Amino acid sequence: MKNTAILGLALLLTLPVGAATPFDGKIIALDAGHGNGETGAVGSCNGTSVVEADVNIAVRSELEKILTANGVAYHDVAQLDSRQDRVADAEAAGSDVLISIHHNGSTNISADYTQSFVTQRNDKIFASYIHPAIVDALGLPDKGIKNDGYGMTVYGSLPGVLTESYFVTDTDGACDFIDYQNGATNTRVQKEAQAMYDGLAAYFSANTGGGGRGRDK
Ligand SMILES: [Zn+2]
Repeated sequence: MKNTAILGLALLLTLPVGAATPFDGKIIALDAGHGNGETGAVGSCNGTSVVEADVNIAVRSELEKILTANGVAYHDVAQLDSRQDRVADAEAAGSDVLISIHHNGSTNISADYTQSFVTQRNDKIFASYIHPAIVDALGLPDKGIKNDGYGMTVYGSLPGVLTESYFVTDTDGACDFIDYQNGATNTRVQKEAQAMYDGLAAYFSANTGGGGRGRDK
């Protein structure tokens, strides 16, 4: 049985009156790729497996800590089997944007770069804020924003991006995640989450439609 009741919960938090931010009234949908029995890519650090689905969840969790600390509302997308259903879940929650968090895999254990995927024009605009922030934060080779959202940016109409911030099959990437699990505080997981937050803030600052515009000063 899936815990969709929990995963479908939208957390709405508010800032004190007068503290208007670009995020006012916005809901960020966060999809942690795979899960629900599906691992995604699997890497290894000195014989210890690192599973993409776990990394995706960890990044989402770190990002949600930052969003919560800043009073930003978010929605955990249910880890449904169908990507179309995941997008529908995000839209049903009234989400304004969607980040589908993935990490890459390769049989080459030294392949490592940052890439993002989009489909629609509004995805490309959104990704143009999220992707460069991740590139800056991780300092890996930039393979750019590609046209192919693997379903997550195909369905629905909300702006979305599917991120593949680094490779869990890369030995450095895998060992970095073990460090994270052991309590390290400046790993790729935290850097990626902070970059996503920074990208979201920049996006909504530049694209505050309707009531948001002009209220920040
Ligand atoms: Zn994936």
